[in-house]
Amino acid sequence: MHSTTLIGTIQRSLAELVGYADELRDLDQALGDGDLGITVTLGANAVIEALNHISPEATPAEIARAAAKAFANANPSTMAALVAGGLLAGSKSWADVEDVDVAAAAAFVRAAGENIAQRGKTQLGDKTILDAIMPAADALAGARDGETGIADAIAAAEQAVVETRGLQSRRGRASWLQERSIGLQDPGATAMLRFLQSWQQAGVAAVG
Ligand SMILES: [Mg+2]
Repeated sequence: MHSTTLIGTIQRSLAELVGYADELRDLDQALGDGDLGITVTLGANAVIEALNHISPEATPAEIARAAAKAFANANPSTMAALVAGGLLAGSKSWADVEDVDVAAAAAFVRAAGENIAQRGKTQLGDKTILDAIMPAADALAGARDGETGIADAIAAAEQAVVETRGLQSRRGRASWLQERSIGLQDPGATAMLRFLQSWQQAGVAAVG
């Protein structure tokens, strides 16, 4: 997809994502401080607003960079900073991209995940957003087109989210719960899953 379609798809996806804010708040409340619902709502709305004012000539990398900046500035939480850093890293993978296809999406998600792993000092299995990001990146990388890519990414992230229930939280406030975190679903990984599902919804809305 080219820039104008990309802008519209991001905006519709994030409007969908805000509908999951209460679920994310509740999951985060069980494991941490419950601010994830607010982080997602403020961040998503700030990105939607910023993209209302972006030039239609903007490249995909510039669009992603604007999204990163808006998400970071909307809310001072650790999660917002990590996601914004991930979006910025993703935008760098789009330096030569004019048409965002499934391979470009895979490169973006992988770059974002690697950045979050590095800056958040986290690895797979720590029960964080990374646990859903990396399987989604793998699924996108193996897909033949965008439609199957997003479906495969959702399936991979969904499985990863279910698997977080059996893991102990190793990062952030959730790690304070130690073994008591086992059995609870990770809110960050769930947020990634809900974003992917929202992206699929936004694409369906664009076609229908
Ligand atoms: Mg929190």
